[in-house]
Amino acid sequence: MDIEEMLLDLKKRIESKLPNDTTISTVEFEGPQLVVYTEEPRKFADNGNIIRNLAKDLRTRIVVRPDPKVLVPPEESMNKIGNIVPEEAAISNYHFDPDVGEVIIEAEKPGLVIGKQGDTLREITKKIGWTPKVVRAPPIKSRTVKNIREFMRNNHKERKDILKAVGRKIHRESTSKDQWVRVTSLGGCKEVGRSCFILSTPESRIMIDCGVNVGSEENMTPYLYVPEAYPLSQLDAVVLTHAHLDHSGFIPLLYKYGYQGPIYCTLPTRDLSALLQLDYIDVAGKEGRIIPYESSQVREALKHTITLDFEEVTDIAPDIKLTFHNSGHILGSAVAHFHIGDGLHNVVFTGDYKYGSTRLFDPAVNKFPRVESVITESTYGSSNAIQPSLKDAEKHLQQVIINTLNKDGIVLIPAFAVGRSQEVMIVLEDAIRKGLIDNVPIYLDGMIWEATAIHATYPEYLNNELRKSIFQKGQNPFLSDSFKPVDSNELRQKIIDEPHPCVILATAGMMNAGPVLEYFKAFASNENNTLVFVGYQADGTLGRRIQKGWKEIPMSTSSNGGTHVINLNMNVEIVDGFSGHSDRKQLMDYVKKMKPRPERVYTEHGEEKSCIDLASSIYKKNKIETRALTNLETVRLV
Ligand SMILES: [Zn+2]
Ligand SMILES: [Zn+2]
Repeated sequence: MDIEEMLLDLKKRIESKLPNDTTISTVEFEGPQLVVYTEEPRKFADNGNIIRNLAKDLRTRIVVRPDPKVLVPPEESMNKIGNIVPEEAAISNYHFDPDVGEVIIEAEKPGLVIGKQGDTLREITKKIGWTPKVVRAPPIKSRTVKNIREFMRNNHKERKDILKAVGRKIHRESTSKDQWVRVTSLGGCKEVGRSCFILSTPESRIMIDCGVNVGSEENMTPYLYVPEAYPLSQLDAVVLTHAHLDHSGFIPLLYKYGYQGPIYCTLPTRDLSALLQLDYIDVAGKEGRIIPYESSQVREALKHTITLDFEEVTDIAPDIKLTFHNSGHILGSAVAHFHIGDGLHNVVFTGDYKYGSTRLFDPAVNKFPRVESVITESTYGSSNAIQPSLKDAEKHLQQVIINTLNKDGIVLIPAFAVGRSQEVMIVLEDAIRKGLIDNVPIYLDGMIWEATAIHATYPEYLNNELRKSIFQKGQNPFLSDSFKPVDSNELRQKIIDEPHPCVILATAGMMNAGPVLEYFKAFASNENNTLVFVGYQADGTLGRRIQKGWKEIPMSTSSNGGTHVINLNMNVEIVDGFSGHSDRKQLMDYVKKMKPRPERVYTEHGEEKSCIDLASSIYKKNKIETRALTNLETVRLV
């Protein structure tokens, strides 16, 4: 059956299940969804169960959209929505999109626009015909979120064509009779950086992550030219576990080399990746390094991004279903579960994960309907990589800050813009509020504030406690007065020229680039200051060298391209325990307590020793097949 026949058949089947007086104009695949167009959206809105039952019967995701003929004009619609939605919802903006019959409503309290089990939304549809979508008005204004939302709206026509093409590809008829499943590693094995895998079956090929190795100039890119990945145009989908550059950094490059398919990720991952990718090429340009792709390719990637919620089962190829689960690592980070064939095989790619509670997130999910194979990260996989508890880490950090401030010193913390920064910010806010440390300014430099704004935009991805404090108690720790975003070169220069007791959080987290280097150059020679590492430092980075004890640091002079040596006299402290990665015990527990019990586990995303050590320990403890993967190898799962 070709796709047109299939759609016609689906239309007939849907019509046969609808009440007699309900008609539909047309049905179309758009991305993983089946879209039903009707002149009577009100009838569907009246009966919330119609769609749920249809989706169950047809085993696919269905959305109903109004035929453009039945839409009430925007001005009139806004009045009507205003009459239905309680004022406390504080609607701040409307965006009407005639292409899809959607109105995006920006509100401070989206829950009040949605109503109990979506009652208010259905009421809105009944009155105006448009399908309402609700988004939270960001409490801290994020340039990134605003620009991306605008960009997506302006490109809706093109996006619709993309989604249509993707939808038709997903729902093509399976042709192969063979049954096998393989995983090929293109990067990120026995190393941290350039994570990239290909999951293949006779029918489909899916890429999981496509990252950059920030610590290395030679082995920067995944092996994208091998036959398994080639040609890129033949890949069915790219699945992105989270926004960190070692997973997302080279995704825009794929569009430069002919890939035209979709990227699946969560909504925060979409926004954070774009932010980090744009910064990555910006920094590379400023430092005179090779710029691997242009900002136009970041935009191309955005256009092709299909966002999924946690726990939402989605067809991404004729024989592959994808489900994201919370991984507790950074905002929007996901464990990716793939169901292959009709119950043929289930494989989990953990991405980076934290199997433990943090100030920001719930622990990673390790309960699945089924799972046979697991590909797990191993950052702290070696047997001696036990991390202190978060409580101890917080105490340690407080003590380091107190000691430094007592000497009128400056605390410099290199941090990833996304993840550790927000965790440390919450710890500092808490300590200042409780009077445990002096109320000194906490400067945030290099995208940390922008990344924080994105966190504040998607509180539903934070843990329960933080959500409660933001929504019910009206206490948003990110809005504390102590935080001072460094939003200009002048302010940065002022902090450097007029040193005063303060805490500076600055990117990049491994000191390989970014404003942290400016502060380091200025403050390294003073023994009253302290450099505090709160995150993982990969081999080859300046952060790692300092941890190893280097005291004379060659630095490039930004003005003339020469180098000079910085004498490091400031204290260097490593505060372990803040990591967004599982420590050794959590990695072991994640597998041990996984339900159901997997048949085999492969390790990756760690130094060689960590990957091998973790694989052998999991084998010894659980008596399941394990192996540390090597780059460029292919393993057969079925
Ligand atoms: Zn990560
Ligand atoms: Zn990573």
